[in-house]
Amino acid sequence: MAITETDDQMMTRVATSYLPKFETVEEERRHRKERLAAGFRLFGKFGFDEGVAGHITARDPEHLDHFWVNPFGMSFKHIRVSDLILVNRDGDVVEGNAAVNAAAFAIHSQVHEARPDVIAAAHSHSLHGKAWSSLGRLLDPLTQDACAFYEDHALFDDFTGVVLDLEEGKRIAHALGDHKAAILRNHGLLTVGHSVDEAVWWFITMERTCQAQLLAEAAGTPVHISPESARHTSTQVGSHVAGWFSFSPLYATIVREQPDLLE
Ligand SMILES: [Zn+2]
Repeated sequence: MAITETDDQMMTRVATSYLPKFETVEEERRHRKERLAAGFRLFGKFGFDEGVAGHITARDPEHLDHFWVNPFGMSFKHIRVSDLILVNRDGDVVEGNAAVNAAAFAIHSQVHEARPDVIAAAHSHSLHGKAWSSLGRLLDPLTQDACAFYEDHALFDDFTGVVLDLEEGKRIAHALGDHKAAILRNHGLLTVGHSVDEAVWWFITMERTCQAQLLAEAAGTPVHISPESARHTSTQVGSHVAGWFSFSPLYATIVREQPDLLE
C-alpha cells in the first residue's frame, strides 16, 4: 500500500494519539493546573511580565463557570501549581489565599462566558505585542508561523484605561468573536484555546509574529504570502491540535528546568 499521508495528517494523527484522557475530574483538574503553572513559568522565562500585569486562566473541568488564575502580584517566575487560585463567576476567590487581579476577572470571566469552547485564555503586556497593538492593525501573513492567525484574529479597536468593568470585558469578548486571538489596541495580546497548552502556545507564537512583522517592516517592504497559500497554511499550523502539540516541547523543557512548578 502506498504511503499517502501528508505532513499535516501525520501531525494530527501523532498528536491525537497523545491527547490526554482522564479517569476522574480530579485528574483532569490537576493536569490543567500543571499546564497553567508551566505556562506562567514560560511567560516569565520569555519576559512577558510587566510588573503585576498579565494573566492566564484555565476553566475548572467540574465547575464550568469557575476558573484557575495566578495570584495577583506574584511573579510568573515563581508560580507553582499550589499557588493557583480558583475564582467563581462573581469574582470571589473560592480556593487559595490571594487576591485576583480585577482586570483578570473583568476580561477572562467574560471571555469564558461568551466562549463555552474555550478552556484557557492568556493575556500579558509582552513587549512586541503591545508595540504592535499601538498600530491598530491586524497581523499580515508574512511568515509560515503568522498564517496561524490568518483570518483568525481580531482587533479590539478601543482603549479607555485599565479594564476593570465587566461591560468592557464583554466588549472585548465580543470583538474576539470565534477567533483564537485578539489584539487589544494600545494594550497587548489576548489568546484563547481548547486547552491550556493551545492558549499559551498561541500567545508565545503571536508575540513572536508581532516581533517578526515589526522587524520586517522596519527593514523594508515585506512580501506577503498569497491569500490562498495563507489560508491553506493556516489549516496546517493553526488548528487546535497543532496549537496543542506545538506546546509539548516547551512544556517538557520548562518542567525539566524548573520542576518545582509542579509542587
Ligand atoms: Zn492588560
